[in-house]
Amino acid sequence: MEKFKKYELQGFRRQAFVEPAKWDTQILIDTIKKNGTDAQIIVAIEEMSELIKELTKHLRNKGDIDHISEEMADVKIMMHQLDIMFGNRIRVSQWRDKKLERLEQRLHDGDTTKY
Ligand SMILES: [Mg+2]
Repeated sequence: MEKFKKYELQGFRRQAFVEPAKWDTQILIDTIKKNGTDAQIIVAIEEMSELIKELTKHLRNKGDIDHISEEMADVKIMMHQLDIMFGNRIRVSQWRDKKLERLEQRLHDGDTTKY
């Protein structure tokens, strides 16, 4: 996790944010340790592209809900690994809130085309 230290806030304790008691988190930590962070970032990119492919199939009326569901699950798993690697769950949550507030404002203003 050395490469990710530059993203850490002062006083940050990674272990406090990865919920090591949860079985899924421990599996993902073990996977990152075994394969390395670069390999898992590549897998994250691959899984996102697989979901993109399934969504474009859906838009061409060739969608399969089981395939879409599988790829959504893969992307969620990889997002969890990115959370662990970058140790930025709080920042992501802050950005999520900020973007949802902005979206709510745009809904109110009648403009939902931008995220
Ligand atoms: Mg996949």
